[in-house]
Amino acid sequence: MDPVTKALDELHWRISGLKGGEVASYIPELARADPDDFGIAITSMGGRRYRAGKADTEFTIQSVSKPFVYALALTDLGPEEMLGRVGAEPSGEAFNAISLEPGTGRPANPMVNAGAIATTALVPASDPEARSARILDCLSAFAGRRLGYDEEVYASEAATGDRNRALAYLMRSAGSLSEDPYAVTATYFRQCSVLVTAADLAVMAATLANGGRNPVTGERVVERDVAVRTLAVMATCGMYDGAGEWLLNVGLPAKSGVSGGLIAVGPGRFGIAVYSPPLDPAGNSVRGVAALTAMSERLALHLMHAPVHLTATVTDTGHGARSSRARSAEQSALLNGSSRRIVAVGAQGELEFTETEQLLGAVEGAVPEPPGWLVLDLMAVTGIRPGSAAMLAAALADVARRGHRVVVAAQEPFLAVADEHPAWHAFGSRDEAVAWCEDQLLAGGPPASRPTAGDGG
Ligand code: GLN
Repeated sequence: MDPVTKALDELHWRISGLKGGEVASYIPELARADPDDFGIAITSMGGRRYRAGKADTEFTIQSVSKPFVYALALTDLGPEEMLGRVGAEPSGEAFNAISLEPGTGRPANPMVNAGAIATTALVPASDPEARSARILDCLSAFAGRRLGYDEEVYASEAATGDRNRALAYLMRSAGSLSEDPYAVTATYFRQCSVLVTAADLAVMAATLANGGRNPVTGERVVERDVAVRTLAVMATCGMYDGAGEWLLNVGLPAKSGVSGGLIAVGPGRFGIAVYSPPLDPAGNSVRGVAALTAMSERLALHLMHAPVHLTATVTDTGHGARSSRARSAEQSALLNGSSRRIVAVGAQGELEFTETEQLLGAVEGAVPEPPGWLVLDLMAVTGIRPGSAAMLAAALADVARRGHRVVVAAQEPFLAVADEHPAWHAFGSRDEAVAWCEDQLLAGGPPASRPTAGDGG
């Protein structure tokens, strides 16, 4: 057994003894759930899947569908229109509360029922069937397999769902719902009756963690900024009136459902799902909350933990960089004698803000004196954020203004950064870059004190 599954099994065993909570019964069919059912599943960013207990038992997704349908509507509407229709403020109220903005009737957020019904209505479709089909397709893409419905639970909720219909009629009268309230709640009940397992939910959560790309199937389900906004709403509103304490104790974006499902997302790390039907008074799975609290503590998953930088960004800041090009004894002597004139600064990995700030510090500490050649070796860089590219460009432009020649060695996609800056020379390898500097030094000594645009240096 692999160590992750072993840890999960151990946690499952420890928490399965936890009693307490009530299985939801306001939807009569849900009351038939077995209170002892308990499964945990994790999906990593590499698409590896781990499970313990009844992770393959099917149950209805209920409110855990809300963030995914929000992501679907957000994709179609765009952030501004979406926020105009459904708010993003935690209501601090129960899931079925009438939290509508006075005056506009705009629901507080998409994670409580009012906001979720309004969100379902915003999924563009020609008719209710088409809307349900789009929602099922979307949930299936998140899960990475074709999902189906529990017709009994659907019928049971449709027969007893007057409170949700009332919410929809209220929104309709307040002007915040343009679709037919009866039809929209039926679509919402359909969405809630989709059958999933804890293992499915872990993949769905991992897709959000992975910036919208399903890590198991590789399919891009939603864009990165849609995933980010969805996670933000989950972080503040996902646990109903338990949301504040949840962020305090567990510190992960999450969503719970009344059938006992619970997902939590470690952005860029994993998706976790728990299934256990007994609920606490806030409507969150008792064992789900306990399992996530324990995991968060043990594995330091809390979002507010400062990220650990596992690898150094700056790989070298060297004077006397030399290429592999053959040089005569006289040339070698000249190059060795001017070893402070050609400097290479190397970086590796992803250049986000922190890494770029480190790299710029290293560049500043390494610039030759008197003016010489600065080689920025980005060959081992795997990603540059737009903000980082701008920081880098500004710093290098400043170095060039001070009379140095700036030479960048980078892989194909990042050469574009250099291409936009005629004041730099760009090369596809470090050796070529250094050799070019050596040639210049051998040919005429100091670089022009002020490179002119167009001469490439
Ligand atoms: N279908 C359920 C309802 O609207 C979903 C609620 C929930 O899971 N919290 O009542």
